[in-house]
Amino acid sequence: MASFSEVQILDVHHWNDTLFSFKTSRHDSLRFRNGHFVMIGLEVEGKPLMRAYSIASPNYETHLEFLSIKVPNGPLTSRLQHVQPGDRLLMGHKTVGTLVIDDLKPGKRLFLFATGTGLAPFMSIIQDPETYERFEHVVLIHGVRLVSELAYAEFIRDSLPKHELLGEMVSAQLIYYPTVTREAFTHSGRLTTAIESGQLFRDIGQAELDPSSDRVMICGSPAMLKESADMLNQRGFQISPSAGEQGDYVIERAFAER
Ligand SMILES: Cc1cc2nc3c(=O)[nH]c(=O)nc-3n(C[C@H](O)[C@H](O)[C@H](O)COP(=O)(O)OP(=O)(O)OC[C@H]3O[C@@H](n4cnc5c(N)ncnc54)[C@H](O)[C@@H]3O)c2cc1C
Repeated sequence: MASFSEVQILDVHHWNDTLFSFKTSRHDSLRFRNGHFVMIGLEVEGKPLMRAYSIASPNYETHLEFLSIKVPNGPLTSRLQHVQPGDRLLMGHKTVGTLVIDDLKPGKRLFLFATGTGLAPFMSIIQDPETYERFEHVVLIHGVRLVSELAYAEFIRDSLPKHELLGEMVSAQLIYYPTVTREAFTHSGRLTTAIESGQLFRDIGQAELDPSSDRVMICGSPAMLKESADMLNQRGFQISPSAGEQGDYVIERAFAER
């Protein structure tokens, strides 16, 4: 297990029967950019069973946080969902990923398109002061099936605007737009439909997408990723060609190419 270290589970929160989040301790040597992912897992029958996970906490925190799906019979998550504070978790030493604001050209508005657990990397990005220094407005759109899947909704809406250091920037610059497909809610329907129909922009009182000033990060289901990328390409947005190269939008390549 040389390429992995052990960390400790500090806290576990179950959002519903398909989604949970947990906090872990963090080794001082683990450095990451907000938006990165790391391999985490458990020892199963003497072997490490590892999966990629986006880090949901910002890189200045002393702990790490993860948002996880519970896949029925999923090799890792059928076990991981039972972890308790005090349990040990395996963690890789390397953090990587293409969902970083450095790979976006300068712009005025940053749009974050997330479905399901695709919210995780954006939780770290919306808690990064640099995000608000680089962009005038940050629009976080989270598409889910059920209201109970709107993880962190209260934190984003109520706690973050009161945050000691970020509160002022968040209150002035962050627009949170949750949308639900299978239950009645303030905003309903698919994220891509809300964008294409213009409903999102009418609801938030902002102009439609414009490649000259808007930048986009996308994380979520393969279907949403493809639809969003097609929509952006049609509108003249250019994807960051590879890690370290700037574009108008970025996706998590490791997720897309899986
Ligand atoms: C770069 C990257 C980042 C990732 N970040 C996260 C994260 O932050 N949180 C997270 O829960 N998962 C994340 N995943 C998925 C994760 O690596 C595992 O697939 C997931 O934890 C399920 O593991 P498993 O062994 O139980 O099932 P697996 O055998 O890995 O997956 C079984 C099936 O479940 C479905 N599935 C897997 N993950 C998800 C998901 N997140 N949402 C909906 N359906 C899914 C897929 O259809 C998959 O084929 C990420 C994957 C990649 C490549």
